[in-house]
Amino acid sequence: MLGKSVWAMLLGIQQAMVEDVVFDAARGVVVAHVRVSQRTRPRCGRCGTGAKPAPLYDRGQGRRRWRSLDIGTWQVWIEADAPRVACRVHGHTVRAFAWARHDAGHTRDFDQQVAWLATHCSKSAVTQLMRISWRTVGNIVARVWAQTAGARDPFAGLSRIGIDEISYKRGHKYLTVVVDHDTGRLVWAAPGRDRATLRSFFDALGPHRSAQIAQVSADGADWIKGVVAERCPDAVQCADPFHVVRWATEALDAVRRDAWNTARRAAGGSRRDGRAHGQERIVATGHAQALKRARWALWKNPENLTTRQRAKLDWIAKHDPRLHEAYLLKEGLRLVFQLDPTDAPTALTRWTQRSRDSGLESFTALARRVQTHREPILAAISHGLSNGRIESVNTKIRLITRRAFGFKSPDALIALAMLTLGGQPPALPGRT
Ligand SMILES: [Zn+2]
Repeated sequence: MLGKSVWAMLLGIQQAMVEDVVFDAARGVVVAHVRVSQRTRPRCGRCGTGAKPAPLYDRGQGRRRWRSLDIGTWQVWIEADAPRVACRVHGHTVRAFAWARHDAGHTRDFDQQVAWLATHCSKSAVTQLMRISWRTVGNIVARVWAQTAGARDPFAGLSRIGIDEISYKRGHKYLTVVVDHDTGRLVWAAPGRDRATLRSFFDALGPHRSAQIAQVSADGADWIKGVVAERCPDAVQCADPFHVVRWATEALDAVRRDAWNTARRAAGGSRRDGRAHGQERIVATGHAQALKRARWALWKNPENLTTRQRAKLDWIAKHDPRLHEAYLLKEGLRLVFQLDPTDAPTALTRWTQRSRDSGLESFTALARRVQTHREPILAAISHGLSNGRIESVNTKIRLITRRAFGFKSPDALIALAMLTLGGQPPALPGRT
């Protein structure tokens, strides 16, 4: 049997002695029985190991177990007495342990490894490797983030921010998120999408730093505009280019759906193709089929098109001039954002006129919307807001919200997003 001090080192426990190590070969489990060294005076678990000592109160609920990192293929648990102390602030509370956070069933090293894995690997990789549920992963990332968050000022040097809303729980709930345009970091997130939620961001930022905000980009929603005007009136309000481009993509899609439905209903536009799920199956043919297949070609930026997709666009230009016009309008609006700030106002005016005159219902509506947001759109161009960066953070947050499905609270979702995108990624335990 190895010496007890070697066991203490292996388990990463400080200020404690290993009294016994019990192997359960059938279950592949090792339990290390540990006693906190008598030289370490007890402290309140909620105040933490750095706080003043507190007098012991009673034995609490007796012994307690914490899951530690595996050794080889063995699952390791640490077991120790968990007496309560009398804290002046928190009353009768279980004492603090150096190896685990208060109220946690896992050691700090275990928490740290789970947090690292959660920001790097798939859901199933984390849960299978660590042998814990996804919900437990959520609780762990929440407590790791709670500690990380206090360690650094997330708002230092903030000057250009993007504010956005992200849906989660399959679109039933929302988060408000704030991203730093200059670093591409997620700096703040909270549940809700309303004025009160956004005001709590500016409360955390404080009046002095709010006054340092030079530009704010958003999707043009009134609740964002109102609060920004109220809390940092000197900031220039810009439209997030990727939102505006998304409006155009939606308008194009409305035209495409229209064209497809018309073609499908026309003679020779569809045919019966057996039965599926107890219903007659109708498939598109001819013109309708070609339109359906052209969907990706219409959505992609022209520089990313494959040769086949390019050919599909040529086909649309020849056979469906209305849809092709819609495509050109979508592209036109996207290109306005790449123009020199001095050329952008004229180009945007021309685009708005052409859209209005197109006779395409979704684009005349879009022209009105763009006209309403003309000033923030031009401000985004003249301040050179980096669209790619904000869009990529936005896409990553959306992916995280999908992964976080199954977490019990939005706090866990926010913690995972902040640990992944907040610029303070969790380190692996025992590495510096
Ligand atoms: Zn306390």
